[in-house]
Amino acid sequence: MSPAAGSAVTLSVVVPMYNEEDALPALAARLRPALDGIGVPYEVVAVDDGSADKTADLLTDLQTDWPQLRVVGLRRNYGHQAALTAGLHRAVGAYVASIDADLQDPPEKIAEMLALAHRDRLDVVYGIREDRSSDSGFKRRTAGAYYWLMRKLTGPQLPAQAGDFRLLSRAAVEAVKALPDQQQVYRLLVPWLGFPSGQVRYTREERVAGRTKYPVTKMVRLALDSITGFSAAPLRIATWLGLVSFLVCLGLLAFSVTAYLFGHTVPGWTSLFVGMLFIGAVQLICAGLLGEYIGRIYTAVQHRPTYYVGTDSALDTARSEGPE
Ligand code: UDP
Ligand code: MG
Repeated sequence: MSPAAGSAVTLSVVVPMYNEEDALPALAARLRPALDGIGVPYEVVAVDDGSADKTADLLTDLQTDWPQLRVVGLRRNYGHQAALTAGLHRAVGAYVASIDADLQDPPEKIAEMLALAHRDRLDVVYGIREDRSSDSGFKRRTAGAYYWLMRKLTGPQLPAQAGDFRLLSRAAVEAVKALPDQQQVYRLLVPWLGFPSGQVRYTREERVAGRTKYPVTKMVRLALDSITGFSAAPLRIATWLGLVSFLVCLGLLAFSVTAYLFGHTVPGWTSLFVGMLFIGAVQLICAGLLGEYIGRIYTAVQHRPTYYVGTDSALDTARSEGPE
């Protein structure tokens, strides 16, 4: 079957994967029966995000007796959100679900999402992580802070604890595809679009095998992209910090002058040094913030694609191209 040839695929399931050789057999063993059981024509779009392990070979093996499995190989590792975007661009289904490769999101819930979208005519169904006790305390706390901040910046339409396990209608997919933004944080763009949405609750399971591909550096990158991609509010922090510093400075000046008038001199070194460090820190933070936004502008004006596809099994040729 060649889904890209225009056959009537009802459901596409996008699975981004990076070095998931350990998790892949378990994923296939659970995803396939879950999708076969729904009883609609489907395709699985496995996006190999430049894996350096045996992920690509395993996928090719799986394809021999799983015709609905389509493999999109990216040229190198572009990151989770870019891999998701690549899958979304290529999926052909009337509905497109996205799910992690490590079975932390239960594939059986996709049927529920599809049924809900059908019944209530929804364009987006979010998977809401009800119970994250399998994640580490650090992961849960940082995720809690992330969602709190993102809801403050992008508005309440972003459900708390909605990860990338979700289902989109063709209309929602086309809306995401139409956005020219190259630095997409797909997770936030979908709620931002404002389509009618519903929720399916699930328990976040333990990673089935292998290790997390999200070290702290990537988490910080995602947080910074999310903040600078959706709000200019941090730029105002500079104004506020400057104002507060100015007021503190005025207070200290009044205090020193009063003390002088009463015959005392304010002892100097420590306060002088702390004051200097404070102003230095404030200026560096503000310069860093400006730098983040300038970096985004820089990337935007370069107009480089978010990812390059090396191979797509549905096209049966080794092609090199960016997003359509
Ligand atoms: N992933 C990816 N590219 C990357 C990092 C991760 O495609 O650069 C995939 C990964 O294979 C998995 C999903 O994104 O399917 C989520 O990653 P992970 O489970 O490591 O993140 P966590 O659940 O620990 O936040
Ligand atoms: Mg995971």
